[in-house]
Amino acid sequence: EFRALRAVKDESGARSEFQTLTLADLPAGDALVRVTHSSLNYKDGLAVAGRPGVLKSYPMTPGIDLAGTVVEDRSGTYAPGTPVLLTGWGIGERQDGGYAEYARVRPEWLVPLPEGTDARWAMSVGTAGFTAMLAVMALEEHGVTPGSGEVLVTGAAGGVGSTAVALLAAAGFAVTASTGRQEEEAYLRSLGASSVIGREELPALKRPLEKERWAGVVDSVGADTLAGALASTRTHGAVAACGLAGGNALDTTVFPFILRGVNLLGIDSVNCPAERRRAAWARLARDLPADRLADVTQVRPLSDVPALAGEILAGRVRGRTVIEVGG
Ligand code: NAP
Repeated sequence: EFRALRAVKDESGARSEFQTLTLADLPAGDALVRVTHSSLNYKDGLAVAGRPGVLKSYPMTPGIDLAGTVVEDRSGTYAPGTPVLLTGWGIGERQDGGYAEYARVRPEWLVPLPEGTDARWAMSVGTAGFTAMLAVMALEEHGVTPGSGEVLVTGAAGGVGSTAVALLAAAGFAVTASTGRQEEEAYLRSLGASSVIGREELPALKRPLEKERWAGVVDSVGADTLAGALASTRTHGAVAACGLAGGNALDTTVFPFILRGVNLLGIDSVNCPAERRRAAWARLARDLPADRLADVTQVRPLSDVPALAGEILAGRVRGRTVIEVGG
């Protein structure tokens, strides 16, 4: 028997509650993992709070990230005791995820923990940090280098944003962090931001093209923030669209694309292919060792997740939250 946080739905709507499960309650899959840590992402907040859009069926164990050790792998890929991490692939959305002491998953979804890291480090990165890494890789692949000029990170005090600031600063970029929380300026500077601007300072789309400013952008906000970022990206710059914390609409024009050659790069962490995942995790281990993530991370027990869900949806969570699931 083990403990799980379950999202359930009945006549009164969707909500979550703690339940006791057995291994027979887990979905099919060749690998059984003893989960020691998970994390809190915006999507987990939606799922745990009973908001629509994330969970495809009920009951469901939320938690889009997990880390722990392999108990059994019938495919023979992983020896028992191998430390592993798993982000995305639909766990915590379409099948049971990380908010339980055991998970049964497909072995091909697992990533061995990079050398010199542990489960807590992996979850302080989690989907949010992994997404930030994919965004930085995408910008680099489109020719954005530290020599190209200033880069912008929106929603900077959040999980994706904080990790993007730290990664870009580690790679030598001059980073401007945009935040709605001016009180987080010192925190963002400690992560490596060279300047911090208020959310309202970003040009909302007033004109199709604004003054050229950003060589690259990592955006976790969407909506007018993304439109404004596109309009103020420099010729042949690139914008990585990661999120929708400010809304999913995008009201823009084609002018940034056809007059400035700006590239809009879509970032998807859920179905990212295995090889790219491993490359991203190896670089995260190299560029964001545990001591560098210490300021970004709070560690909380699974029992706090229902309360934390409300906090992250309200935009009050700073950086990353690691969830301690089981020993
Ligand atoms: P998070 O920790 O809540 O960060 C979101 C940040 O966005 C907040 O901290 C806040 O930053 C800003 N924000 C919140 N509400 C806003 C609003 N109404 N207007 C403008 N800014 C607002 O969440 P996260 O886990 O980093 O995820 C960020 C976004 O990326 C979410 O939309 C999430 O779904 C998405 N995401 C996508 C992928 C992918 O694969 N593409 C993966 C992970 C996450 P400030 O306080 O600094 O302003």
